[in-house]
Amino acid sequence: MTPESLYEKLSKIIVDHPLCRYSLEKCRSLAPSINRILELKQEKNAVILAHTYVHPDIVYGVADHVGDSYALSKAACQTTADTIVFPSVRFMAETAKILNPDKTVIDPNPNGGCSLADSIDEKTVLRLRDKHPHHTFVCYINTTAAVKAASDICVTSSNVYRILEKIPNDKIYFLPDQYMGENAKNWLKKRGIEKEILVYPGSCYVHEEFEPEAIDLLRMQHENAIVIAHPECKPEVIAKADMIGSTSDMQKFVEERQVEKRPFLLLTECGVASRVNAEVPEARLVGGCTLCKYMRSNSLAAIEEALENPKPHQLIDIEPSIRKRAAKTLERMFEYAK
Ligand code: SF4
Repeated sequence: MTPESLYEKLSKIIVDHPLCRYSLEKCRSLAPSINRILELKQEKNAVILAHTYVHPDIVYGVADHVGDSYALSKAACQTTADTIVFPSVRFMAETAKILNPDKTVIDPNPNGGCSLADSIDEKTVLRLRDKHPHHTFVCYINTTAAVKAASDICVTSSNVYRILEKIPNDKIYFLPDQYMGENAKNWLKKRGIEKEILVYPGSCYVHEEFEPEAIDLLRMQHENAIVIAHPECKPEVIAKADMIGSTSDMQKFVEERQVEKRPFLLLTECGVASRVNAEVPEARLVGGCTLCKYMRSNSLAAIEEALENPKPHQLIDIEPSIRKRAAKTLERMFEYAK
C-alpha cells in the first residue's frame, strides 16, 4: 500500500475533532508498518477481523473484515485462514476462539477491557441462576467465555430484539447491559408482547454518555436531523431516536437515507462516523460522538508485533469444557437469528 492510497481513504475522516485529520505525512509514517503486516498475513495465512471502533488506520490499512460483533463472529466462522488476529477487545477474540477451537486466535491488545464484559463473572451468573431458576438466561456477546458458558443464549446488538421475541419462555434474565434489556422490554411492549425481563446492572460507559437533553438541543439547531441510536444507550435516549440499530445497521441506514439530504446524528462510538466519512462522504453528520478507550488502545504496532511473534498472553486459550458450553450458547444465537 502506498502512503498516497492510504491518504486517499483516511483524509476524509474526522478523527475526533474537525481539526484532527490524517495528513499525508502521517500516512507516510504508517505505511511501512501496514506493508509489513500485509506481508506477515500472507506468510502466516492470517486474517484480520477489526471492530468498527478501532483506529481508521487499522480499518483501512490492514483489516480483511470490519464490522460489529455479529458480522465479525460470522466472518470468524467462515474463514479458511489458519490464524485470526482480532484487534478489538478481549471478549471478541475469545468469541472467535470459541467458534474456531483449532485455529490460532491472537488478541494483539490483551489488556483491552470492556465496561460491560468486566461487570459480571461466571460465579455471579450461577448465583443469579439459583435465585431465578425459571428464567432463560440471555447474555449479550459482550461477556467473557465463562459467562457465555453459564448462560443459555447469546445475542448481539443486531439481533437482541428479535431473539428475545422468539424465545418461548416469557421469563428472561438479560445480562449484563441493563439499558439494552430495558430497551428490548419496551420494544416488545410496543408490539403487544409482555415478557418479564430482569436485567443485570451493567452498562457501556461509552453509550451511557449520551443524554436526552442533548438530542433536544441538537433538534433545535437541526430541525430535520435523523437521530440514530445504539441499543446500549439509555431508554430516555432511545425514546427520542428515529432509528435504533447496531453499528452495521446504522451505517447501512445512512447509506440508504443519505439521498434525502437530511443531517444525521449518530449516538455511538466515533468509529461509525469515521466509516461514514470514508464510505458515504455525501452524508452530513452533526453533533458529536464518543471514543471507547479500550477499542482505541489497539495499534498497528501491536498487530505487527503479535503477528511476528505472539506473546503467550496474546494467544487465546479457553478451557475445553467452558469452550464447549459457550459454543452451545453461541450456536443457539445463530439458530434463533436465522
Ligand atoms: S464501546 Fe462499550 S461495549 Fe463496546 S467495547 Fe467499549 S466499553 Fe465495551
